[in-house]
Amino acid sequence: MTKAIVVGGGIAGMCAAKVLAEHVDEVVLLERDQYPKGSDHRRGVPQSKMFHTLLERGRRDIEAIFPGFHQLLESRKLPKVSFGFNCALMTPRGWGRNVAVPVQRSLFCTRGFLESAMRDLFAADPRIKLIEQATATGLLSQTCADGQVCTGIRYKLKGNDKTLELTGSLIVDATGANSRAHQWLQAINIDPPREHRLDPLLTYGGQLFKLKPNAKFPKHWWWTHGAFIQRVPPTDNAAAHLIRQEGDLWLLTMVAGDGDELPNNEAGIDAFLSRMRSPLIHDMLPYFQPVGDLTSYRLPKNCWKYYEEWHETLHGFIAIGASTCVFNPNQGQGMSVAAGDAGILRNCLAETIAPEKLPKLFFHEQAKFQRNAYQLACSNDLKFTSVQGPRSASTRWFNWYRDAITAAGAADPWVARNVAEVDLLLEPISKIYQPWFMLRTLLAYLFLGWRQRPSATDRVAPQPPGPATFPRRLRNTVRQSLSMAMRFVAYRLRLTR
Ligand SMILES: Cc1cc2nc3c(=O)[nH]c(=O)nc-3n(C[C@H](O)[C@H](O)[C@H](O)COP(=O)(O)OP(=O)(O)OC[C@H]3O[C@@H](n4cnc5c(N)ncnc54)[C@H](O)[C@@H]3O)c2cc1C
Repeated sequence: MTKAIVVGGGIAGMCAAKVLAEHVDEVVLLERDQYPKGSDHRRGVPQSKMFHTLLERGRRDIEAIFPGFHQLLESRKLPKVSFGFNCALMTPRGWGRNVAVPVQRSLFCTRGFLESAMRDLFAADPRIKLIEQATATGLLSQTCADGQVCTGIRYKLKGNDKTLELTGSLIVDATGANSRAHQWLQAINIDPPREHRLDPLLTYGGQLFKLKPNAKFPKHWWWTHGAFIQRVPPTDNAAAHLIRQEGDLWLLTMVAGDGDELPNNEAGIDAFLSRMRSPLIHDMLPYFQPVGDLTSYRLPKNCWKYYEEWHETLHGFIAIGASTCVFNPNQGQGMSVAAGDAGILRNCLAETIAPEKLPKLFFHEQAKFQRNAYQLACSNDLKFTSVQGPRSASTRWFNWYRDAITAAGAADPWVARNVAEVDLLLEPISKIYQPWFMLRTLLAYLFLGWRQRPSATDRVAPQPPGPATFPRRLRNTVRQSLSMAMRFVAYRLRLTR
């Protein structure tokens, strides 16, 4: 393989191009947009005006592909948001407790800020040729002994009607949720893979704010970096969060489901937020002034393209990221999946770079990883009565079991940490079925109920429970420090990753 063409320069595309550059002579990245300067919004990723968080799995994968990524973000003053420490979280079970020690599990900044850091590291790689304002329109292919082989891509440059051709031995579709690969494949007489779809029926709304000059939160508000109120199945589809972003910006997000309208003016926002389970965000908003317009975005359907069992043979073509698997961003996994897919591509390239072997190997491995996020997202959507789709016995069992382990996690931090590792995509779902995990969950469920904090009344109070008393904070700090020390020792002894 000497030349690879990556179509689409979002998270998946940039990561894939970088990974490929280690294995082929030349990589060309085609991107429909002209990349903006800094973290400005661009048209090719319309969802970028909405709230985006990068999970630990995605952070690690991007860091492995773009060394220095996290440091660059920190040097640009990435805010440190931590649930329970400086950001209040109301889950379907109520308010989480206030913890004494921050646990950083995700990065919180605008999508533009994150992408711009990646682009700066990406631009520094001379092995990749970037063609901006180039829209791919189809595939080039030739027949071969056992099917077809993809030989290149057709594309148009902005402002020019002429169709151009670019040839290469591996074509990577990284054009995101609106990928046209389906039509491109049909145009060369290849049946596209079958699809599974599920509509979460959700609309997102987002608006940027800044604190008013001299505005100061009351002293007892420990949630200095934001508040998050989640949806409650089966019927309460309204969610909202107001979270600190880079550059003293704050992003207000509102989520409405089941065809409900999102507000489009100040009075509407006020009414929407005052109807939430807690008026907390409504009470915070007077401290802020808007610095942008309110934008809304109807979520696309969850969609799984079964490339891993595709019966057609098309050598030299792979698809990655949201072009293969789209799902409700409720758990913030999309960018991590896109970066994780590129990590998987890197592992596959180490095994083979042959264009006739790579696609099958890659699709198989990619599906194994993506299935975790897709199952978590779809089964959660199916908890809501408004979502139309078959609720199989296994989905119902999975949802019941997940609720049970979440409840056990409130009593036992070890269980909570393991569940979080699955949610953060650091571990596969199979982790929660390991015998030791199930036993410990059962024990926590049966015997540790007394450790649950906060109390039942605190959990549904209008405001989050206050900071813990001094003895409890001391106990928590000692316990967490011990647990961190033990994890560090286990890590050094190579007992864990
Ligand atoms: C409302 C909302 C909130 C979200 N929140 C989160 C979150 O909190 N955390 C998270 O991890 N994920 C979140 N996501 C998901 C995340 O945005 C996507 O999963 C992720 O961007 C997928 O990356 P990608 O590179 O595959 O596709 P994209 O990022 O969509 O990139 C596709 C690229 O391809 C280019 N392109 C498209 N067509 C062509 C063409 N024909 N020719 C050339 N270039 C083309 C586009 O310009 C774009 O640059 C959210 C999504 C939505 C809708």
